[in-house]
Amino acid sequence: MSEFIDCYIGLGSNLGSRASYIRRAIFEISHRITKITAKSFLYESAPWGSFEGETFPYLNAVVLLKTEKSAHEVLDLLQAVENDLGRTRSLPNAPRTIDLDLLFYGNEIIKTERLTVPHPHLSQRRFVLQPLCDISPFFIHPSLGLTAQELLESCQDSQQELPRV
Ligand code: AMP
Repeated sequence: MSEFIDCYIGLGSNLGSRASYIRRAIFEISHRITKITAKSFLYESAPWGSFEGETFPYLNAVVLLKTEKSAHEVLDLLQAVENDLGRTRSLPNAPRTIDLDLLFYGNEIIKTERLTVPHPHLSQRRFVLQPLCDISPFFIHPSLGLTAQELLESCQDSQQELPRV
């Protein structure tokens, strides 16, 4: 019997019509993977990492869905949505129309060449934890053993509380 897995996806956009890219990505995810169970508010955050060119603030959100697909199938579908929404892979930290990350796949810990789950560094990133807490504050990070709310409260991100958009 197949099993439905709680799958958390982080969305970010800092190029072009950001809210529209997030909306379109959520629409495509719900069509190509499965319908969305829960959706966070939208937040604005400063970009992470260094980039020599002009950079712009991100809009971020997190969605939850329950799927029978494998983690690698989900990754393939997320990358197809990124490509179809004009995501190009140029320099690290370059502005992007859409960035889709598989944050959690149930309680599984996965480390392959293509996929690391839970997504690395998420415990240091307010732009992930704040929207995650909108939908699942009591979700326990499978390797850190802390809830999303506890991770947010102890988060050392230099960015303070993010504004909702
Ligand atoms: P990014 O530039 O952030 O979109 O990173 C994309 C790369 O990260 C791709 O090569 C993915 O195979 C890899 N990757 C590893 N783990 C994950 C994950 N949990 N979610 C999304 N991409 C991942």
